[in-house]
Amino acid sequence: MSSIDAAKNLTLRDCAAGSETLLALWHDYASGRMPHALLLTGESGVGKRTLAGLLAQGLLCTGEGEKPCGQCRGCRRFLSRTHPDAFFPAPLPKEKTIRIDTLRRMVAELGHHSLEGGRRVVLIENAEMMLPAAQNCLLKTLEDTQEDTYFLLTCDVETALLPTVRSRCRVIRMQPWQKERLEKELKRRGIEEKRARALASYCEGSLGRALAMQQDQAYWDARELVRKTFLSVQSVGDIASAAQRLRDQKDNGDRLLKILEQEIRTLMHERTLRGQDTADDFPSFWLDAPPQALRAILEAVLAARRQKNANVGWAALSEGLMLVIAEETKKWQA
Ligand SMILES: [Zn+2]
Repeated sequence: MSSIDAAKNLTLRDCAAGSETLLALWHDYASGRMPHALLLTGESGVGKRTLAGLLAQGLLCTGEGEKPCGQCRGCRRFLSRTHPDAFFPAPLPKEKTIRIDTLRRMVAELGHHSLEGGRRVVLIENAEMMLPAAQNCLLKTLEDTQEDTYFLLTCDVETALLPTVRSRCRVIRMQPWQKERLEKELKRRGIEEKRARALASYCEGSLGRALAMQQDQAYWDARELVRKTFLSVQSVGDIASAAQRLRDQKDNGDRLLKILEQEIRTLMHERTLRGQDTADDFPSFWLDAPPQALRAILEAVLAARRQKNANVGWAALSEGLMLVIAEETKKWQA
C-alpha cells in the first residue's frame, strides 16, 4: 500500500494523536506556523511518509475546514501528483539514488514564481537516497527558502543526512505506535476487534505493516496452520498428525517459524502486561503455560530458525521442535 492510499483514510489529527511532539507539530501546522523545512525520522513503518504526505497535501489544500480536505482541486491534484507546485524528487526508475540533476532542475524551477500563486511543496521520501553532492545542492535552497516554499523530508536513519541539512530542518523523531493506539486505529478502519488486536500485537508498532498484513491472506493461512500444528501439540501422540500437515511446508518454513516465535512472544508479553484474558484466541491450554516453559519453547523456536538457515531438513527440524513443545506442555498439564 502506498502512503497516498493511507492518506485517503487517515487525517492529520489521527496521525498526531497520542504523541506530544506530533501534537505540537499539528498545532503549529493548524495555526499556520508550519516550519519551512521538516525532517521526519524513525524506523521503517512508523508513518513518516503518511504524515509527510498529509502535511504536504494540507499545505496545498484550498478547501474549507480541516485540512487536507481530500476533495478540493489542490488535494486532488496533489494526490494524482499533477499539482504544478508540488515537487517529488525521487530516483529514476531502476535507480537507487536521487540524481543531482533532478535536484538542480527542481532548484531552478523553485527560483521562479509559484505557478498557482500559492504555496509550493517539496516532498522527499527516503531522503537518504540523496548522496552528499545531491544533499549539498538541496542545502542551497534550504538556506535560501522563499516564504511560500515548504520542504518535507522523511528518512529512516537521520545520520544518513549531512549535519548541515539536518540543522536546517525541524527534526521530528517518530516513535513506533503504541499497541492500544494501533488497535483503536485498526478498528476505526473497520477491522474487527480480534483481528485488530492480533495485528496490533504483530506489526511491531507500524500501522503500515499492520495494514499490509491485514491484506495478506497467505499470512493468515500460515498463522492458522501454526495454531493447528505447533501450537496444538499437547503430547508426543499429537506429533504424527501435525507433522503430516507440515510435510509439504518446507518452502514456507521460515514464515511458519517466525509466526510461531511471534505467538510465543505475544503470549509471554500479554500475560505479564494485561492478564490472561487477552490471549483468547490461542489454543486454551497455553493460558496455563508457566513462564519458564514459554522461555524454553522460545529458545527451541529460535534454535529451529537457526537450523532452518543452516539447511537442516524441515521434517527433522519441525518434528524436533514439536517434541520440545510436547514435553513442555506435558509438564504443566501433569
Ligand atoms: Zn483540499
